[in-house]
Amino acid sequence: MNKLTRRTMLAGATALTAAALAPAMMPMPARAAAPMAGKQAAGFYRYKVGDFEINVVTDGAATFPLPDQFVQNHPKAEAQKALAAAFQPTETVTVPFTPIVVNTGPKFVLIDTGYGPEMHAKTKGRVGQLPANLAAAGIDPKSIDTVIISHMHQDHVFGLRTADGGLAFPNAEILVPALDWAYWMSDAEMNKLPEGYTKSVYPGIRKTFTGLENKVTKYEWGKEIIPGFTTIATPGHTPGHTSFVVASGSAKIFVQSDVTNIPHLFLRNPTWQVMYDVDPLKAAETRKKFYDMASAEKALIQGFHFPFPSAGYVEKDGNNYRLIPITWNPVI
Ligand SMILES: [Zn+2]
Repeated sequence: MNKLTRRTMLAGATALTAAALAPAMMPMPARAAAPMAGKQAAGFYRYKVGDFEINVVTDGAATFPLPDQFVQNHPKAEAQKALAAAFQPTETVTVPFTPIVVNTGPKFVLIDTGYGPEMHAKTKGRVGQLPANLAAAGIDPKSIDTVIISHMHQDHVFGLRTADGGLAFPNAEILVPALDWAYWMSDAEMNKLPEGYTKSVYPGIRKTFTGLENKVTKYEWGKEIIPGFTTIATPGHTPGHTSFVVASGSAKIFVQSDVTNIPHLFLRNPTWQVMYDVDPLKAAETRKKFYDMASAEKALIQGFHFPFPSAGYVEKDGNNYRLIPITWNPVI
């Protein structure tokens, strides 16, 4: 048996070069150069949960210089070490955004909306890709019956609006967590915050929902809010942050929303606090509870900030957890 060493690889390369040169002695038909695509392919993926069809539709991913306080409670060098261990660049961080559309048969249900057109323009198309990828998946925004918002951070709600301020899903009922609505729409809550990330995102969130006060339906935890969709209390990231069980027959998945941000930092290190958490200690407590439950149940988890197609199983590893991503299934 051949041993793969640097020496045999070099010998192989020499042999390949010789073989590649040999046909040059004979006249070859000219081949036209293929143009480079120069852009990424459309991003959507499908799988079944009972009778439901899940369409995972990416909104894109943001790459930005790693903030000093990206992990609020640990030095930047530790975050960089964890990024390096996950074979990621250490000066930047990349966060994916992944809404899903569930076709229940009678209804199309979208969970979270991505960044929308304004951020699409600002990031030169890196985020705000949901409309283009919905079109590629053959889903008309007018056919969405229900939009469920997991929490009211901008990457989950800005996509409710079109570029001209209209409604991106004009026929959909919009469901929002009651506790997040109370928090983000309150002047008193906004005014008592110190300067920082959370205060800085208030105006954009409120602008998105201005004029929708009578259109949104507020939901509570522990309820089946539409058939097959049950809300789970996962507070901390925001006060009303919500995860979901999506179930059809005996099959189910957990849609975790932002119980963690990117898994190679915050699932590997569940006590680490991402800078976007409103109540970081509560978020860490929620994380432990949620993943202990999900790993014990061996349930499939759909994660908004997991790498596309953003679904996998979570395995307990001492006090930490590990994501085992699903493998591409060529059939449904
Ligand atoms: Zn998020």
